[in-house]
Amino acid sequence: MIVGVPRESFPGELRVALTPAVVPNLTKAGIEVVLEAGAGVGAGYPDAEYLAKGIKIVPQRADVFRAADIIVQVLSYGSNDKSGKGDLALLHRDQALIGFLRPLGSLETVQEIAATGAISFSVELMPRTTRAQSMDALSSMGTICGYKAVLIAADTLPRMFPMLTTAAGTITPGRVFVIGAGVAGLQAIATARRLGAVTSAYDMRPAAKEQVHSLGGRFVELPIEAIDAQDAGGYARAQSEDFYRAQRELLGRVVAESDVVITAAVIPGQKSPVLVTREMVARMAPGSVIVDLASERGGNCELTRPGEVVIEHGVSIIGWINLASRVPYHASQMYARNISAFLLHLVKDGKLQLNLEDEIIRSTLVTKQGEIVNPRVREFYKLPALAEKQGGN
Ligand code: NAD
Repeated sequence: MIVGVPRESFPGELRVALTPAVVPNLTKAGIEVVLEAGAGVGAGYPDAEYLAKGIKIVPQRADVFRAADIIVQVLSYGSNDKSGKGDLALLHRDQALIGFLRPLGSLETVQEIAATGAISFSVELMPRTTRAQSMDALSSMGTICGYKAVLIAADTLPRMFPMLTTAAGTITPGRVFVIGAGVAGLQAIATARRLGAVTSAYDMRPAAKEQVHSLGGRFVELPIEAIDAQDAGGYARAQSEDFYRAQRELLGRVVAESDVVITAAVIPGQKSPVLVTREMVARMAPGSVIVDLASERGGNCELTRPGEVVIEHGVSIIGWINLASRVPYHASQMYARNISAFLLHLVKDGKLQLNLEDEIIRSTLVTKQGEIVNPRVREFYKLPALAEKQGGN
């Protein structure tokens, strides 16, 4: 079984899907790795480190696709809407593809992937179970984004985060408010606390309160209750526009009193709810900073522009996307561990096992034999359920 690692092609993307450190475990399991020359350089993993682990390096992207039974990527076509399409012509029938495919992003894209005949797996669909925890790339990248969001905010803010008592007087601590205490939000709370900011957070899931407290954050309670805030998979459920309106009214005061607001409230496959309006921004002190981690999905702030920094009323609203790529060394290390755990799960006795009784495989498999086979993806796009259960090897 040969696993191919092409160089990431999304503009500015620095991560790599496999790092040298995970190669020995794959080799032990009979999996060979072929890497496109220079694929790890941007993340701090030069070719020589891969060569030292005994892998093969090929000069051209097409050579990787030609040689591999399984292609592993970070941003595959789907999440790479800029340059990913070129890979469709390189994929061949029954070749496996693993990466961020953004399966709930656009039906047309998923259909195009299906049409290649590739057996594609989307890491976004990894179930949130104890068994799958080591393969949960979404959580790994969320952790990095939460961390980096705080550093970007600290760097942009014209104030310091920690309280300091000096001969030149006392500096009051920065006030950081995190909206959406999922994996990214929780890491943002931890990072802001480490930098000395007074940190508070809000989430519509009641279970988040304890997690925020355990990190030393103050939990902001709002006198409204979300209906079925969480689905069976642990993901947030979309709420009514009335609910969001009530949230905005209640959040206004906390936002106005904050120096930094990090928003990380996302709903899988849907546009992010707008929780910070233009009026709320206008009430913040000039110099304040909003980092919108939901920007790729439209943003939690009304003024966010994906990929850009907007300054309105003296407030910087940072809508950069793909923040995990700004910490490429550790993002790649974490992603590579997730992907190698997934590969070791998928490949048994030198063969790809497509046992649909297995929840991890059933949940992540998106396309096979020219068809979209994932029940959740089919349901999302309102495609009729597949009549026959597909299985076998
Ligand atoms: P997420 O990225 O899906 O969403 C971010 C957060 O935003 C969620 O906490 C959600 O409740 C919140 N949110 C959405 N809409 C909101 C609104 N209108 N107002 C306020 N908050 C809103 O979240 P996540 O990173 O997937 O984490 C969700 C939970 O799942 C966390 O408790 C996390 O620890 C848990 N989790 C468990 C596993 C596992 O068991 N293996 C893996 C990952 C995450």
